[in-house]
Amino acid sequence: SAAANGSHVLVYPIPRSGHVIPLLDLTHRLLTRGLTVTVLVTQNEVTLLQPLISTHSSCSLKPFVVPVPETPLSTPFSPIEAMKAMREHHEPALIQWFKSQATVTPPVVAIISDFMLEWTHDLAARVGVKRIVFSPSGACDRSFSFALWKDPPKKDDPNDNDDSSPTSFPKLPNSPIYPWWQLPPFHRNGKEGDPSWERWRNINLAERASWGFVFNSFAGLESRDLEHLKRELGHDRVWAVGPLLPDRHSNDAVFNRGGTSSLPHQHVMLWLDSREDNSVVYVSFGSRVTLTSAQIEVLTAALEQSRVQFIFCAREPREKNGREDSGAVSDGFEERVRDRGLVIRGWAPQLAILRHRAVGAFLTHCGWNSVLEGLAAGAVMLTWPMGADQYTNAKLVVEQAGAGVRVGEGTRTIPDPTELARLLVRSLEGSNGSERVRAREISRAAMEAVAQGGSSDKDLDELVNRLNEASK
Ligand code: UDP
Repeated sequence: SAAANGSHVLVYPIPRSGHVIPLLDLTHRLLTRGLTVTVLVTQNEVTLLQPLISTHSSCSLKPFVVPVPETPLSTPFSPIEAMKAMREHHEPALIQWFKSQATVTPPVVAIISDFMLEWTHDLAARVGVKRIVFSPSGACDRSFSFALWKDPPKKDDPNDNDDSSPTSFPKLPNSPIYPWWQLPPFHRNGKEGDPSWERWRNINLAERASWGFVFNSFAGLESRDLEHLKRELGHDRVWAVGPLLPDRHSNDAVFNRGGTSSLPHQHVMLWLDSREDNSVVYVSFGSRVTLTSAQIEVLTAALEQSRVQFIFCAREPREKNGREDSGAVSDGFEERVRDRGLVIRGWAPQLAILRHRAVGAFLTHCGWNSVLEGLAAGAVMLTWPMGADQYTNAKLVVEQAGAGVRVGEGTRTIPDPTELARLLVRSLEGSNGSERVRAREISRAAMEAVAQGGSSDKDLDELVNRLNEASK
């Protein structure tokens, strides 16, 4: 078909919701612009391709299912083990695949791979294609990581995990200050010989050496960090093409996004339909974070006290393993808040919920996808980052974007229920609070960025043009 004349790229996600979802959203955009795309997945993720396959009925999307043991999306994430296993199993299959493509047209010109798949940089060089890094995090996170690399902070007792003393990063665009305990753990005590630190170093080096960098972000939100990264990398093949969210009208893509809702999504939507505009808080901590019993208790107490309307998406508690405890919402709670609260145990149709006019605020762990989905929907953000890039993301939301307020920081926070209740109420109050105004502005900027002629639309065109040139 005419659509399949563009060059051919291999898209390679890692099988975690927060990583695979945005990379498939990018795949959709590439297909729409006429590229041929092969997506490497394991058997478990094949169903995630369904919305793409049904939208792009021409054959320009090619699933490449690697014949390897499964690493289900739900297994606890041990990055080192998981990444090692992936490489071991996928690399030989990939080399075979590249051989099989040698005489096929259009030729493969690039691998677009998750930033954690740093070894694909060398593989790409070996088979003679470009590697483009896909970052499922924001530019703020990657420039922070580069700063840690260039200017590693030091402490006398790096293992003091309670240390709140400030560490400043004056060379970063907004000169952020972090309490020591919020720095990535492998940074606090890591060095040569420590597997986590070495893995991070390798990711960093590969990012610097790779040909290009794609962000699920947009200039209106992160121009300073994006420009900073270009200077750091010494080239400008840094494309911000987000937010990469499916069109409101493609129900298949919106409702089958990463998982199947634990409550029928029609039920959730009907529940929201009967509520007023901006009258519901959506509470979720993403696909991986679980709360302790004490945190669940405080959160449910605050939801109850505040009398706000809400949807609370609660992960199934993990088995106690001695080290961590993860709590469950009591049945009594649901009974008591029946008229105004909905509890979803398991997977929620998050994007559809956030986009519903009734939802006005989002209590979030600040995973990057949640941040983008919330901001794009114009929600006031109540931030409670728990780890990884989430502290940086929360900083961006609260301090730079001005679209949210902090309600917690870290896995050990146990907020005061009365204060939390107050913030919940406030997040829905008035139509002209400063966070609400900023949330509206950012939502508009996000829409403009991806509309024709917007910054993200142009960056995507530029990326596609460069890929098409490469196949000539
Ligand atoms: N998600 C969802 N339903 C859930 C939990 C998560 O649809 O119940 C989606 C959410 O919309 C987002 C992704 O899964 O697109 C989670 O990514 P994020 O970066 O926010 O956090 P992570 O799960 O990686 O910590």
